Amino acid sequence: MIEMKDVYKKYPNGVTAANGINVHIGAGEFVYVVGPSGAGKSTFIKMMYREERATTGTITVNGINLSTLKNRQVPIFRRNIGVVFQDFKLLNSVSVYDNVAFAMEVIEEQPSAIRKRVLETLDLVGLKHKARMLPTELSGGEQQRVSIARSIVNSPKVVIADEPTGNLDPETSWGIMKIFEEINLRGTTIVMATHNKDIVNGIKHRVIAVESGKITRDQQKGEYGYEG
Ligand code: ADP
Repeated sequence: MIEMKDVYKKYPNGVTAANGINVHIGAGEFVYVVGPSGAGKSTFIKMMYREERATTGTITVNGINLSTLKNRQVPIFRRNIGVVFQDFKLLNSVSVYDNVAFAMEVIEEQPSAIRKRVLETLDLVGLKHKARMLPTELSGGEQQRVSIARSIVNSPKVVIADEPTGNLDPETSWGIMKIFEEINLRGTTIVMATHNKDIVNGIKHRVIAVESGKITRDQQKGEYGYEG
């Protein structure tokens, strides 16, 4: 599903953010990526959806070799990947419904299929009754639910989340995790970078620890392993 072989990433400023990464993440896994700030977690996961390119090494996602993928092929590749950000990245001038629907409209689905699937997905995240509201009228946790709905509306094989609970209070974060758990139970692979120690220790999954651009620990049902 996701495979990295001898992956190095050197940014133009000379910083090496991935320093020889080898990893395999299988279909249906739930993986936490942990490590101190600046360790290379974001770079690691950005390379999975071709937001960043590896400098050397091979990355394969859903059978596609990202090293040789042309820029114009990236949008098609991304149809099978959902991405969730710490700061939601919603369009604040359009409704909750449209934020989710746009993700389907760009791939030219039929309007009737879009309506059915958007409402079904908003229902899954508990926000069907707020479909006509603007994101700015929602709480942070609700906005993150919208962004999760957007990430899964096209039924991607993989959802990649970068600190999805970073801006949320503990109780809201548990609610968000329940949704990720549900998505994973339905068969979607989840890769989540997080600093949330309580969640990593409370809902056990594989833990990949990254430090100085290297994987320093890779444990099934692992612990967070850092203080603070
Ligand atoms: P983390 O997500 O663990 O905080 P990052 O992957 O964001 O780590 O960063 C790893 C290192 O790469 C840091 O030293 C950071 O400053 C550097 N870095 C990240 N993005 C860029 C970029 N676009 N250009 C230059 N350096 C970057």
